[in-house]
Amino acid sequence: MVKNRQATAIRFCSVLLSIVWLCAAPARAEDAQGVQRMYVLYCGESETKDVSIWSPGVDVGKPREFSDSCYLIHHDKGWMLWESGISDAVADKPDGVVAGGGILTLRVQKTLQSQLHELAIAPADIKYLGFSHFHGDHVGNANLFTEATLYIQQAEYDAAFGSEPAKFNFNPALYEKLRATPIVILQGDHDVFGDGSVTIYSTPGHTPGHQSLLIRLPKTGPVLLSGDAVHFQENWENRRVPARNFNKEQSLASMEKLAAILEREHATLWINHDKPQTDTLPHAPDFVE
Ligand SMILES: [Zn+2]
Repeated sequence: MVKNRQATAIRFCSVLLSIVWLCAAPARAEDAQGVQRMYVLYCGESETKDVSIWSPGVDVGKPREFSDSCYLIHHDKGWMLWESGISDAVADKPDGVVAGGGILTLRVQKTLQSQLHELAIAPADIKYLGFSHFHGDHVGNANLFTEATLYIQQAEYDAAFGSEPAKFNFNPALYEKLRATPIVILQGDHDVFGDGSVTIYSTPGHTPGHQSLLIRLPKTGPVLLSGDAVHFQENWENRRVPARNFNKEQSLASMEKLAAILEREHATLWINHDKPQTDTLPHAPDFVE
């Protein structure tokens, strides 16, 4: 009888415990839906002796440093990488590499591969891949990610993989391996995961098929990644268009489009090459949620 009562008590307790456990158990990260976190990766840096190439008529002859970021997004459907920065090969050159016909010196202090390795992520783990555009400081490590599906605008695809990439200042050697990967060619805005968590926005002008990315982070809220639709805060505030952009009218229209998205979504604009802003962001292995 005592034994029975004990057994009943134990059973009651274990049932109670499992109810408590079920109620108290936090949702495991891998069970969560949508985007859970995003890493900002250092993807090199650059400097110019004359920033007015980006702001015609303003700050003529003044030097400026630019940041270069990549963004690694953890979605329950898989890892997405947005931008791949300056080539890791530049890390071997202590004086950096001169690019853009002499307007920029590129440097890499820490490779993209070493940062992924620190996070225990292999390049083959990246399943979704996108670039704001195909200039060398954004697709520098593109050839690493041959297991991913590439999301690219039709106009950028035609320029980058067509017969005259040099006309658009593209260097196919940096991204040639992506020819053989699955490619989703876009004709405008696109909801990547179909759940509204990550949206590609067509923002042409800097290049023919430039695009920007909106990520809805669970705690931080919506963040809009500019790409090179704008290069730094002063240019954003004054709607300045760099002299070498592919199309000035498109560039201005794309800035207005981004401004409308920011207002509608109550989003924050993260400008890829704005070093003062980039310096304030947490970098991998830290992340934003
Ligand atoms: Zn660019």
